[in-house]
Amino acid sequence: MKKITVDNYADAVSKLVPVAKSDTGQSYRCAQVLLSAYNGGEFFLSIPELSGLDADLYDAAIMVIRGRSELRIEPHILIQNGKQIFYNLYDRWPNLRLENIGKVNCPVCRGRGKIYDDHDDEVEATPCNYCKKTGRVCRCKG
Ligand SMILES: [Zn+2]
Repeated sequence: MKKITVDNYADAVSKLVPVAKSDTGQSYRCAQVLLSAYNGGEFFLSIPELSGLDADLYDAAIMVIRGRSELRIEPHILIQNGKQIFYNLYDRWPNLRLENIGKVNCPVCRGRGKIYDDHDDEVEATPCNYCKKTGRVCRCKG
């Protein structure tokens, strides 16, 4: 296998980040790759899900996996403002965290973490105590 360079790896991270920040069908797959490379102890990566990526994003995903494994460099240090960008991705994709895998939407607040007054949606929201404002609960409570 041909060796990869730091530039190859950085280009691949730069290619996946805008997709992971957006809201397309490819976004969560790109986020899985980036967040797992960032913190593999906390984030889940489904290898079969990679088959759902467009060809150019798939190539970038494989490059990120190889870069993280072979060069042993965390992805956030390869891009400008990487620390903040990865913090934002961390918050943007809570359901990719290992602690949330297997959870379902809260039946009380329907996954929103807040309960809205029927007559005044958005304004009269109160925190959902059933899911502790996370919007997600164990399957056994769903
Ligand atoms: Zn809830």
